[in-house]
Amino acid sequence: MLDDNIFLKILNGEIPADIVHEDEHCLAFRDVQPQAPTHVLIIPRKVITTHADLTEEDQQVMGHLHLVAVKLAQELGLEEGYRLVINCKDGGGQSVPHLHMHLMGGRDMKWPPG
Ligand code: AMP
Repeated sequence: MLDDNIFLKILNGEIPADIVHEDEHCLAFRDVQPQAPTHVLIIPRKVITTHADLTEEDQQVMGHLHLVAVKLAQELGLEEGYRLVINCKDGGGQSVPHLHMHLMGGRDMKWPPG
């Protein structure tokens, strides 16, 4: 499964991405198939396959991802609001086996999501 981890290839610089933020804990880049005018993926550098694999030692990095989302929302002009999504496993719609947070904005969001 990890062989299909395209986000690890982006982290390792093996394939390009439109990077909007990087630091020692995470990377953020624009989604190639944006579902909103602004659609960014924020991923930890640590390989965590799904949200369900989180452990206590991941508390800090997950808090960090949220703070990066706040910073990016400000920088990318999402003052009107935004949506954060983490799809978990096949049933949750996850297609890449590396935990990632979707930051989406720039349009009105519907509820419930599909
Ligand atoms: P999910 O379905 O929650 O696993 O989200 C995976 C997301 O990764 C999708 O929105 C894809 O469009 C996006 N994606 C897949 N490959 C790439 C890539 N090489 N660069 C940027 N985004 C990608």
